[in-house]
Amino acid sequence: MEEVLAKPVIGRLAPSPTGALHLGNARTFMIAYLSARSRGGKVVLRMEDLDHPRDKPFAADQAIEDLRWLGFDWDEQYVQSARKDIYRSALEFLHVRGFVYPCVCSRKDVESAQSAPHAGEQLFYPGTCRGRFASYRQAEAIRPRPCWRFRVDPRSIVEFDDLFAGRQRQVVDQTLGDFPLARDEYGAGYTLAAVVDDVLMGVTEVVRGDDLLAATPAQILLARALAPWFARQMGAEVNLPKYCHVPLVVGADGRRLAKRHGDTRISAYREAGGNPKAIIGMLAASCGWCERGEEIALEELLPRFSLASIPHRPLVV
Ligand code: GLU
Repeated sequence: MEEVLAKPVIGRLAPSPTGALHLGNARTFMIAYLSARSRGGKVVLRMEDLDHPRDKPFAADQAIEDLRWLGFDWDEQYVQSARKDIYRSALEFLHVRGFVYPCVCSRKDVESAQSAPHAGEQLFYPGTCRGRFASYRQAEAIRPRPCWRFRVDPRSIVEFDDLFAGRQRQVVDQTLGDFPLARDEYGAGYTLAAVVDDVLMGVTEVVRGDDLLAATPAQILLARALAPWFARQMGAEVNLPKYCHVPLVVGADGRRLAKRHGDTRISAYREAGGNPKAIIGMLAASCGWCERGEEIALEELLPRFSLASIPHRPLVV
């Protein structure tokens, strides 16, 4: 009789070295890590260092040190800036299939191609440059150089079940419009690189902050468009990841944790001789996995992990 084996779980931690890791990042990574490890899964660490010019030179190494100090480990490690050829190949595929077009709209529009579109940072693009250039060569000559946008079919409605946030539905054409994928001079930005990597790295679940929930349908559309390219690259069954968006940590003003809320950098606790178990304990208590004030190591939380006890509102610090 044929045995049905459950697919191995692969989770990922995807820091952007645009600044220091803070309590909010640590909480999301803790959930992502435990979700995979508690089921015997693998963890991939992926440094998302394509955000020119916002990336900080110190931040990638510091994030890795912070994560190790907190007790994280991982099975594979990648740096996106070393994978540009792969993203270029995906972009070429999209170009040949007519899924992308060059856009020379405002600098702000073009620059948004590199960054992860966190809530409040999404720009709706009305498709101004659609059909504007007869050929790639024509657009290529333009300065500043263009970005590449995904042509969203107005009929495409994306629906998916988020493991934490529940059923989602979005008409991408009305929310984001034609979203940016790459800039001519830098290559792939966040959306293209993240989608390509999540699939090629075999990620089965994307656990991240819910400020990227609204950006997810665009990623699903892109992954679908790339399906034949993925099949060619992988020579195996192509699986799209499941998504799990968890609430953010916010300041007292309700905004995403940032410098203005005081120093919540993990490196600051580390350098001040802080106890990582106290930080993990505090974050775990906010997820309902231990008592407030309990000091606990990340690995001790493996048997206690549950998505069900995580509150559905943001954590205020
Ligand atoms: N690197 C992205 C960020 O830190 C996260 C992307 C993701 O998890 O998809 O904003």
